[in-house]
Amino acid sequence: MRISKTKSELQAFIQNEKQKGKTIGLVPTMGALHEGHLSLLKYLRARCDILVCSIFINPTQFNDPEDLKHYPVTLDQDIEGLRTHHCDVLFLPSVDEMYPPGEQEWHIDLGDLETVWEGKHRPGHFQGVTQIVYKLFNLVKPDRACFGQKDFQQIKVIEKLIEIKNLPVTLDICPTQRDENGLALSSRNKFLSPSGEKKAAKIHEALQYIHKHIHTEHLGNLLKKGKEIIEDNTPLETEYLAICDIDTLKPVTQIHSSKKYIIVVAAWLEGIRLIDNLPL
Ligand code: AMP
Repeated sequence: MRISKTKSELQAFIQNEKQKGKTIGLVPTMGALHEGHLSLLKYLRARCDILVCSIFINPTQFNDPEDLKHYPVTLDQDIEGLRTHHCDVLFLPSVDEMYPPGEQEWHIDLGDLETVWEGKHRPGHFQGVTQIVYKLFNLVKPDRACFGQKDFQQIKVIEKLIEIKNLPVTLDICPTQRDENGLALSSRNKFLSPSGEKKAAKIHEALQYIHKHIHTEHLGNLLKKGKEIIEDNTPLETEYLAICDIDTLKPVTQIHSSKKYIIVVAAWLEGIRLIDNLPL
């Protein structure tokens, strides 16, 4: 596996491969790779000639400096995982490489996506996400790029970025990988205590309860019950739990059989913020 630390080296390699008619797949990550990330690599490995993974802890998408300071780094293990999954290129730039001084400020109109759920609770987060993904798309010029369903609102935001900038890339979405208790895998789970990891599974339990009873119980009651499942006898604190229109992510008060919905949730445990979702 080639490890490229500079944009120029990566671009030269990609250009050469494209000239040979090779297709390029990209999996952007912030490292501390787990089975969730690896499932994206597996998916794209089978669908492109050259598989590129980027590991870059993108400072502009962190609204909490402490979160950025403590973000986990497991580079040796990541490189091993990438080699095992036959990744061709690891792009591993520094912050200066991605954000040279004197660059123009970034802003893109994400509409309501920036004022609900993750957008509301993490101000500026999606501007940072779109800024780095746009840079990566411009550098790698991937035919396809793969993202996880786990960060559903992020997918919506990237769809919008692709639309606004008219980018020639196919977006692939892979299902959320979970541990045996149902907890969605996340790099930040490393910071949970063993008992915390078990308690955090209540989040998925609540999503499943709502999913199961969606046609038989009033939505208000369901959300109340979901919050109880998350919080009763656990130190979990729900930040939001809502049933939304899957396209607009606006909360709904009624379900129509002709429409699609998604349950979204964020909760805190042991100082760690956990997010999850379940389409209906
Ligand atoms: P991150 O390193 O957290 O920025 O995530 C990189 C990519 O991996 C994003 O597209 C995430 O949605 C995806 N991802 C993270 N966790 C999971 C998971 N549990 N299952 C599937 N994909 C995931």
